[in-house]
Amino acid sequence: MSKYFSKKFENLTPYVPGEQPKERNYIKLNTNESPFPPSPYAVEFAQRALKNLQLYSDPECTFLTQSVASDLGVNADKVIMTNGSDEVLNFAFMAYCDKDTPAIFPDISYGFYKVFAEINNLPYEEIPLKADFSIDVDDYINKNGTVFIANPNAPTGILLPLSDIERLVKSNPDRIVVIDEAYVDFGGQSAITLIDKYQNLIVTRTFSKSRSMAGARLGFGVANREIIADLKAIKYSTNPYNVNSATAAAGEGSVADEDYFKENCKKIIDNRAWTEKELKSLGFEMTNSKANFIFAKHDGISGKELYLKLKERGILVRHFDKERIKEYNRITIGSKIEMETLIKTIKSILEELK
Ligand SMILES: *Cc1c(COP(=O)(O)O)cnc(C)c1O
Repeated sequence: MSKYFSKKFENLTPYVPGEQPKERNYIKLNTNESPFPPSPYAVEFAQRALKNLQLYSDPECTFLTQSVASDLGVNADKVIMTNGSDEVLNFAFMAYCDKDTPAIFPDISYGFYKVFAEINNLPYEEIPLKADFSIDVDDYINKNGTVFIANPNAPTGILLPLSDIERLVKSNPDRIVVIDEAYVDFGGQSAITLIDKYQNLIVTRTFSKSRSMAGARLGFGVANREIIADLKAIKYSTNPYNVNSATAAAGEGSVADEDYFKENCKKIIDNRAWTEKELKSLGFEMTNSKANFIFAKHDGISGKELYLKLKERGILVRHFDKERIKEYNRITIGSKIEMETLIKTIKSILEELK
């Protein structure tokens, strides 16, 4: 850091994105991207939009917001579009956390929550997951502060039932609860159905995973209209043109192609079931994941060693050094061929250890 860097960032530890290596053609199972290309409609719509790049993008993303809202069955004034869901999450940290309303989130969850708290100089509290990595909402109910929960959680993939979320939201109407549904399309139940009933709930979603658009950077938040107005106040005070025109158009194309989206989600869910069965027969233990990844460990090989051996053989998975989860690897569900290659490779690694 230079000597000019503000002291307020002295303790900042930036988020570390998963590796995106350029030097070799890896099978990439490390950042929960989709193995499938975006819908051809998304590509076509984006190409058309590129011809008008001389104009600023629509800060309200009017058409995209309308199509997302009608897809979800909510009013368009309950939706805010953002540059990835990371951005709407950051807006929520800025808008609803403070000295007396710290951010509250699980000790094992999306790594960015801590970074958002730190960059905004906000106090935060991490609540340990249970021994089986599940979330007990009772641990949050009597806390004062703004709660952030990824559902399904990452990197565990474990889903919290909607009834638990409702109990948490209902328990204290004076406290905001943010449910991060980045992975909900792979077998979760969305809390968006509760939006009309509770004023203190925010649900965030992304086009990055289930809609194969990680590189486009598109996400959104759903909440009642007063909350959306708060989040927009922050958006218009930082970057009104946060979603570029090509991305907004691509988003519309993606939403218009419901069949392609559903088909791809189903393929991932089927490949997940197949991979789980294969890993189990090789002696792996794993959480009950409802996401597009598996969180698995094996008694015969450490998490780090398996990660390194897979990397040597051209397969990237995600390993975290954090004490509680260091024996695990998070493995993104890819295409069937990628999963078959993964299983074959793990078999030979385990074989060599004998
Ligand atoms: C991937 C992910 C996000 C955000 O992704 P964007 O690409 O910024 O939309 C948010 N939360 C969790 C838990 C994620 O895994």
